[in-house]
Amino acid sequence: MEEKVRVRFAPSPTGSLHIGGARTALFNLLFARHNNGTFILRIEDTDTERSTEESVKQIIRSLKWLGLDWDEGPDKGGEYGPYFQSMRLELYSKEAQRLVEEGKAYYCYCTPEELQAKREEALKQGKAPRYDGCCRNLTQEQKEQFEREGRKPVIRLKINEEGQTVVEDIIRGTVIFENSVLDDFIIMKSNGIPTYNFACVVDDHAMKITHVIRAEEHLSNTPKQIKVYEALGYEMPRFAHVPMILAPDRSKLSKRHGATSVEEFRDQGYLPEAIVNYLTLLGWSPEGNEEIFGMDKAIKEFTLERVNKTAAIYDVKKLTWI
Ligand code: GLU
Repeated sequence: MEEKVRVRFAPSPTGSLHIGGARTALFNLLFARHNNGTFILRIEDTDTERSTEESVKQIIRSLKWLGLDWDEGPDKGGEYGPYFQSMRLELYSKEAQRLVEEGKAYYCYCTPEELQAKREEALKQGKAPRYDGCCRNLTQEQKEQFEREGRKPVIRLKINEEGQTVVEDIIRGTVIFENSVLDDFIIMKSNGIPTYNFACVVDDHAMKITHVIRAEEHLSNTPKQIKVYEALGYEMPRFAHVPMILAPDRSKLSKRHGATSVEEFRDQGYLPEAIVNYLTLLGWSPEGNEEIFGMDKAIKEFTLERVNKTAAIYDVKKLTWI
């Protein structure tokens, strides 16, 4: 039996919803609807210093304005709220603990100053700075000594630097990463908060996500996440990294290229349907040459195989319907 498609949009609430995030949300929704699947909204708000309540509100407002409604989440009296990672800290902690007990992860007591000194030393020697694994085999006594000194440990995942990690990406094809570029990276910070790569994998598994569709900037995180999947013994989802959106001069998109946030478009009087139409064709090509694409038609035709492999060019001048 074919598995039921489940996808998610997982923004970090550190600003308003931009054109890139809106497109990622839209492609996830189109893929879910095309396959009679489920679309989830997960707010990745574990970075307490950068996440804001206002940003959560803006993202939700923008998604609703665009008509990108999600199908599941904590019930809010007949309406679904998003999942919030900040409400799920126990789960991440439990899974990290399990990895420590299984010997796949370990407590590291190195201080930021010690790590910085090691980084500088590596750079001086012309080597890439990698964590040297010095806390991998601490004795109970050494740990107790560190605890007495008041050091708060992080948890690191043990990485074997031999070999390669292969990402089979639906859009990009096979992408190979040398494991030597990875080191024993941190999965839990010393304040008990998980890092993005760890929380993301624990949640994608817990939420039974079948396809991870996200921006290409996360492709370099994927080998790390694969290591987390392997360590936790989870089945892997399929990955699809959507190419970047660039300005007409192929530079990185920024404010000087015109409106880039959904709220700006709304405030300037654009219709949400026009934005959805524009975003649908920003990096995805239908079979025919049509340029007018309502949501229903896009749902009918959307496949990941037709997402373009090269960067999309964002030209606000092409967005003329008001
Ligand atoms: N919170 C990440 C972001 O906003 C999500 C990346 C992902 O979809 O895995 O970029």
